[in-house]
Amino acid sequence: MDEGEADLIRKARQDVLLGKPASAVHAEWAELGVRGPQTPPGKTIGYSSVVYILRNPRLCGYRSYIPQEIRERSGRVDPVEYLVERTDGTPVIGQWEAILTPDEWTELVVELDSRKNTGRGRRKGSTVTRRLLTGIARCARCGTGLYSGTYLRGTTSYERYGYYYYCRKADGGCGKLARSGPPVEDYVEQILLGSLKQQADNATRVEVEDPELSNAKETLRRIESDKAEARQLRADDLLSLAEFAREMRRLEERERNTKENVAGLSAGPVRAGSTAARVVREWEKYTVDRKRDELKRSIEAVVVKPAGKGGAQRGTFRPDLIEIVWKEILRE
Ligand SMILES: [Zn+2]
Repeated sequence: MDEGEADLIRKARQDVLLGKPASAVHAEWAELGVRGPQTPPGKTIGYSSVVYILRNPRLCGYRSYIPQEIRERSGRVDPVEYLVERTDGTPVIGQWEAILTPDEWTELVVELDSRKNTGRGRRKGSTVTRRLLTGIARCARCGTGLYSGTYLRGTTSYERYGYYYYCRKADGGCGKLARSGPPVEDYVEQILLGSLKQQADNATRVEVEDPELSNAKETLRRIESDKAEARQLRADDLLSLAEFAREMRRLEERERNTKENVAGLSAGPVRAGSTAARVVREWEKYTVDRKRDELKRSIEAVVVKPAGKGGAQRGTFRPDLIEIVWKEILRE
C-alpha cells in the first residue's frame, strides 16, 4: 500500500463519518482508477471491494485471518468478523504499517454498520431527489409532504434559489403551495442549531452546577447496591421471604421518589450535551443526508403556510409562514 492509497483511505474515512455514503466513495475511487487486489484487468473497482477495504482491520494494524474453507465457500466475507485475537481477547497486531488508529478504524466500521438497515448508503433506483427538508416539510393546507423541484434554467428564481418545495397533486396533495427552498432551509437550520446550542449549554450547567442532581444519582447507586445485598441475603436464607419483600418494597419506593426528583432536576435534552455540541461544531461539514438525519431527531415536521392574498413579496422570506413542530422531548 503506497502513501497515495493511504491518503485516499484516510479521506474516505473522514467523508463517511461526515455522512457520505460508501457508494459515493466507490464512485470517486472508480473515477480515480483505484484498483483492488481482485479488480480484473480493464475493469474498475467494485463497490464490495471498496467496502471490504474500508472494513479491513489491517487498516489499523490488526490481523485478521479468514480460513481458506470459508473464503472458498462464501466468496467475499466481512473481515471484521475474523479478527485474530489473543486468549485475553485483545487483537493481534500485524507486521505492517497502520493507516488508521484502532479507534479511528472502529469508528468507521460502526458508522458503516449503522447504515445497514436504514436504506441509506447505496440507494438503488431512487428517482426522487432528497433535499434537506424532503420528508420533513409539509403543506399547511392539506398536510401532504412536500416534494422538491428545480426552477427553470435561465430564470431569476433559478439563479437565485435553484430549487423549491411544492405540494404535489399527483401525490394526493392540494397542489396549491410552493416555496423557494434555500431560505426555508437556512431558517430551519438556524433554529435547530440554536436549540442544540442551548441543549449543550443546559447540559453543562446541569452537570457542573447541580449538586442536588449528583446527590440523587449517588442515592440511586446506593439503593441499587442495597437491593443487590437484600437479594443476596435472601439467597443465603438470612432474610425471611416477608422481610425480603418488605425491604424491597421500601427500597423501590425510595428509588421511585428519587427518580421523580431527578426528572424534575434535569430537563432531559433530546441529545446528550456533548453530542449536541459536536453536531453544532461539525454541521457545516455534514452532507445533506446527515443533516436531515439530525433534523429528524429533533423536528417532527416543518409546516409551510400559504402566503395568502397577493402572495409573499418577491425576494422576502417570511418566517411567520413557517411552523416548526418539535418532537416530544423524551425523558429517561
Ligand atoms: Zn397541499
